[in-house]
Amino acid sequence: MSDKERFDDTDFREVIEGLEAQEEYEDDGYEDTCYICRRPESKAGKMIRIPKDICICADCMQKTFDSMNHANFPLGDMGNFGNMPNISMINLSDLQNMMPKTQKLKKKKAKEEKKSEPILDIKSIPAPHKIKESLDDYVVGQEHAKKVMSVAVYNHYKRVACDEADGIEIEKSNMLMLGPTGSGKTYMVKTLAKLLDVPLAIADATSLTEAGYIGDDIESVVSKLLAAADNDVERAEHGIIFIDEIDKIAKKKTTNQRDVSGESVQQGMLKLLEGAEIEVPVGANSKNAMVPLATVNTKDILFICGGAFPDLEEIIKERLNKQSAMGFHADLKDKYDGEENLLQRVEVEDVRKYGMIPEFLGRLPVIFALDALTEDTLVRILTEPKSAIVKQYKKLLSMDEVKLEFEENALHAIARKAKKKDIGARALRAIIEEFMLDIMYEIPKDDNIGTVTITEDYIENNGGPVISMRGCPVLEEKVGVAGA
Ligand code: ADP
Repeated sequence: MSDKERFDDTDFREVIEGLEAQEEYEDDGYEDTCYICRRPESKAGKMIRIPKDICICADCMQKTFDSMNHANFPLGDMGNFGNMPNISMINLSDLQNMMPKTQKLKKKKAKEEKKSEPILDIKSIPAPHKIKESLDDYVVGQEHAKKVMSVAVYNHYKRVACDEADGIEIEKSNMLMLGPTGSGKTYMVKTLAKLLDVPLAIADATSLTEAGYIGDDIESVVSKLLAAADNDVERAEHGIIFIDEIDKIAKKKTTNQRDVSGESVQQGMLKLLEGAEIEVPVGANSKNAMVPLATVNTKDILFICGGAFPDLEEIIKERLNKQSAMGFHADLKDKYDGEENLLQRVEVEDVRKYGMIPEFLGRLPVIFALDALTEDTLVRILTEPKSAIVKQYKKLLSMDEVKLEFEENALHAIARKAKKKDIGARALRAIIEEFMLDIMYEIPKDDNIGTVTITEDYIENNGGPVISMRGCPVLEEKVGVAGA
């Protein structure tokens, strides 16, 4: 038999079966991806491994050799491709490491293993009051929001764990969270994901556009979640996606052009929110020939949308005024003008008026609002959470064996300053950092300093902090000379 005939007869699927037996490489838990067609092992089947960690699937290998045969290459000595006229073969060693780990797919667990150890066992999902208790350690105030979230999350994972054999399908508890900027929307979701140990992807609705336009595709949010789950599809399918600034994709009031970043994005998100099989690029934002694709089902992914919805209060007020102006018990027209936390009275109808389409709102059945932060809550945020800013600074100074204290009035002064900035709790860190800078700079200079007390006067720029030396009476000094 000639060499040519021999290669015509070779079926590379059989070759691979033979090679399976000699599999010696270390299994790192990630799927191999074909170097040529970029399909993962789960789709393309077993791979041929060639030196330098390059894998090629049976189909591509077959196609390569078929095309060589049809081109009538003098196959002669197969080990010596260099003999072929006008063919410069690729040096495979140049290609090593071209597939970064971020673009590799994590292998799915074998089926029988899954049965014995489900990822989300209903028994291990904490009850709502337990979830809220854990949230309390981190999130100050926002009692209503924490309660609603805990129940929604509990129901969501119960829904994931239950079977639908009896024909009763529990609806998804995707959430729409309203609250002024800096009121802790992102923080609550992050804390929740950490407590539940599920992957979390945070995306900004403003960057999303309808597929094909400049901006991120809507499906890129699932790709982000897959990355957060270490490319483990199964873990990603039980994760949380938080889409911030959702109010920015409200329907534009006056449009004579196609609304590619507003209503179209809402439309595009519908199937994602409900549950669909989405092909997402692994380790990249957009699909292209060089990235492998993975199929992620969004059916069990919890979607939380958040937004500040400025001016929504006006719509709520208008509705309330209309209601109270009717009948015998008609109220004054300006009854709700001074009311704080009007957002708490939100109804689906108001958000629809704002510009969110009914189909979109229908897929976010849990709607709730966060409270605007008061001065007292800001003081509590400074001191109470597990990693409160004040606790962090105390810890930093205690490493220099210096005790840091804050007068109650000083904390209120910081909170007042933060409230003026209108960016919620986010302003706290910037303000406290400004006042702590000199202290953090000067204190390590002098080993004798024992205690630093931050006073209201210091925050109001009317004096300095109180510094006391070890074993000496308290003396007040300007920070600038504290270490001199
Ligand atoms: P937004 O509502 O704009 O998403 P964030 O969640 O980003 O606001 O909040 C900004 C920061 O403020 C958070 O990182 C967190 O440290 C702090 N913060 C806000 N609200 C609270 C709260 N209720 N309890 C504790 N920290 C909070």
